[in-house]
Amino acid sequence: MSQETIFTKIINRDIPADIIYEDELSIAFRDINPQAPFHALIIPKKAIATINDITEQDAPIVGHLYVVAAKIAKQQGFAEDGFRVVMNCNEHGGQTVYHIHLHMLAGKIMGWPPY
Ligand code: ADP
Repeated sequence: MSQETIFTKIINRDIPADIIYEDELSIAFRDINPQAPFHALIIPKKAIATINDITEQDAPIVGHLYVVAAKIAKQQGFAEDGFRVVMNCNEHGGQTVYHIHLHMLAGKIMGWPPY
């Protein structure tokens, strides 16, 4: 399942975003409502609605999001102290935008468990 969301508009430059990284498969931009000193979203350019919609064919794309997270961590200086990446799925996961995205949060010690 794939449908156009606000993230497709960001990919297509139809609406503005603070883009910090882009390559052929993915794009990363700062979250508009940051939950940590650094909060970015790393998304595939392919519109995949939820984790439930990821196919075996998509595995390189999804894996690539983590490679990008590592690159951003290095660039932004968060690699050594650490950071959190999380992908929410559907209502119970807290997903509101139905285009998969890796939240990347850094700049403070994260709490656990996530309530
Ligand atoms: P939640 O909204 O509960 O965090 P998601 O995991 O689906 O659910 O995350 C969507 C994220 O997208 C939110 O953190 C939200 O702040 C962010 N967001 C929504 N619209 C924009 C936008 N135009 N630019 C940047 N970030 C956005």
